[in-house]
Amino acid sequence: LTPVVTPQRETSFIEKMKKTNRNMVVFYGSQTGTAEEFCGRLSKDAQRYGMRGMSADPEEYDMSELPRLAEIDNSLAVFCMATYGEGDPTDNAQDFYDWMQENDEDLKGVNFAVFGLGNKTYEHFNAMGKYTDKRLEELGGKRIYDLGMGDDDGNLEEDFVSWKEQFWPAVCEHFGVEATGDDTSIRQYELVVPTDINMNKVYTGEMGRLKSFETQKPPFDAKNPYLATVAVNRQLNQSGDRHLMHLELDTSGSKIRYDSGDHVAVYPVNDVSIVNRIGQILDADLDTVISLNNLDEESNKKHPFPCPTTYRTALTHYLDITNPPRTNVGIPDGPRTSDPSPLWRMSLSLSVSLCQGLYQSWVLDAQRNILALLPRLQVRPTIRIVKILCPSCEKQQHPWMESILKVYPTMVSICAVVVEFQTSTGRTFKGVATNWLKNKVVVTDNGHKATVPMYVRKSQFRLPFKASNPVVMIGPGTGIAPFMGFLQERGWMKEQGKDVGETILYFGCRRRNEDFLYQQELEEFEKAGVLTQLNVAFSRDQEGKVYVQHLLKKNKEHLWKLIHTDNAHLYICGDARNMARDVQNTFYDIAEEVGGLTHTQAVAYIKKLMTKGRYSLDVWS
Ligand code: FAD
Ligand code: NAP
Repeated sequence: LTPVVTPQRETSFIEKMKKTNRNMVVFYGSQTGTAEEFCGRLSKDAQRYGMRGMSADPEEYDMSELPRLAEIDNSLAVFCMATYGEGDPTDNAQDFYDWMQENDEDLKGVNFAVFGLGNKTYEHFNAMGKYTDKRLEELGGKRIYDLGMGDDDGNLEEDFVSWKEQFWPAVCEHFGVEATGDDTSIRQYELVVPTDINMNKVYTGEMGRLKSFETQKPPFDAKNPYLATVAVNRQLNQSGDRHLMHLELDTSGSKIRYDSGDHVAVYPVNDVSIVNRIGQILDADLDTVISLNNLDEESNKKHPFPCPTTYRTALTHYLDITNPPRTNVGIPDGPRTSDPSPLWRMSLSLSVSLCQGLYQSWVLDAQRNILALLPRLQVRPTIRIVKILCPSCEKQQHPWMESILKVYPTMVSICAVVVEFQTSTGRTFKGVATNWLKNKVVVTDNGHKATVPMYVRKSQFRLPFKASNPVVMIGPGTGIAPFMGFLQERGWMKEQGKDVGETILYFGCRRRNEDFLYQQELEEFEKAGVLTQLNVAFSRDQEGKVYVQHLLKKNKEHLWKLIHTDNAHLYICGDARNMARDVQNTFYDIAEEVGGLTHTQAVAYIKKLMTKGRYSLDVWS
């Protein structure tokens, strides 16, 4: 018998670097694929600056080997770290984060640089990038270039390119190397059309294992989502021009466990008409089987999305073709078109400084998608360009997460508002995930139950350990979602005879008769004594706005007592851009007006509540 040798995956990045003669490793903490994309670009750029780079997923390597990087001459570790939720690392960087926190290894001789990806509207802006940068220095590492802080509320791409423009000269100076100007290495992927195809081996939308949708096997996670059946899909608002919906996904048999406050990620399917249109522009038979291969043969990630697959599947399931593309489009790929549009200039240039204004106004502000961009490129587009322009759907879980309402263990509920608005050019923009969910009927035409690929992501948003602690929940609009779960849990504890503390809700909506979400359920909770106080701010039922923070202000004495003497836990969920900030300012006011603190003391007081886990945010923008 011939023994079957299964290739072992390399978990030592040091050995891999040595074997492949690399001296720069770029790690990514990535949830939606942006940090990963940046890492790919940095490691490709390396060649031009006299370095030999590889990008790496910290989840796939033994990060405790970091101190050994000093064994490699002129070596450098770069970290592109995204921050999520309440300053949390991404899933794939969690173990590395734990390692940094728990270990005191000496990083003497380890050169590093960090670029953080965050969003300024959040309290913990770039917490993960800041922590990595600070901690690696504390452990004795040598910072080669200053921490970069990308802001997704502004323009992450521009921030990254500006950082990179300064970072490389710093690397050259530190290692005494010179830039070669040779950019032949910039191609990241090659498109291959295989001649001999076994259709059983072609991906049809699975995220990881081939045929995983046909034979579902736990555990279910980002790479192995569960096909939950849609049990309920109903509109929540009585009137108004928006569509607010309540969905229940049946997860029975999946062994998926979750707690109130966790998030569910879904994998939507793109709009067929956009897919077909891109097919026309690419001049491709969408049913052609293709493979997009990473040109970096040493990369653990051989393909940017599951391959082989068809153009159609890639565009339908794996790429985000709805949202505005990224800027890095000036990559030679074929003959130029003669279109003299402004985007032509933009695509010609690799220098963002030249095209900054155009990208911001023409693409971002007007929310133009790839359909508008492709025909204007200087190059003949291929799926390779589309991939470079669009983040992967596979990684786009974060924007599509909805806070879970815990109905009962095998049913996951979602409360969401359908994204639909007019862009500045008059086009109707339809959000991918929410419109796809909206159209999910419980039973399809062929009598089958509609399904949604999903998985559960753990969150820090948790009820206090002691049920007797009071809780104050502030959740206007769809921010109500996790609190329905909290209320069910507090109700259940009450039924068990537990001493349950005060449970107060501040909800806000436009009009009582329009979008008072879960009105009946909330009134029942109130009647049952589970909800000890229900405060609702209707913003458009009278002249002048009434928001949750106005009601908080009205009850300031009672709230201060709950916070200051009764150990209350505060929760804020919903809009990050305005509401969360305004509510936080209101708590500063309350601490000043009732607690007699100065403004500086009030800010420090609330910050302390946050670090103690008594002021929790679950917000999105
Ligand atoms: P996408 O295709 O992602 O499009 C969204 C794009 O449209 C964004 O660029 C956005 O900035 C833009 N946009 C949206 N509205 C407008 C507007 N009026 N004008 C101009 N631009 C606009 N949502 C809920 O409804 N319920 C929840 O419980 C919930 N929980 C969440 C939990 C977490 C942890 C996170 C991160 C988000 C949560 N969200 C929730 C937000 C939800 O994920 C978004 O509604 C989602 O991004 C919309 O997805 P989509 O694919 O339909 O839209
Ligand atoms: P919503 O119905 O728009 O708002 C809920 C209530 O909050 C309304 O009464 C609203 O009042 C009020 N409000 C507005 N500004 C406020 C403030 N600064 N402080 C306190 N209350 C305020 O809520 P939603 O539809 O659930 O959306 C919640 C938020 O999530 C949105 O504001 C949006 O920023 C965000 N969101 C983002 C996406 C995305 O794709 N990125 C998608 C959906 C929602 P008025 O409207 O009368 O002022």
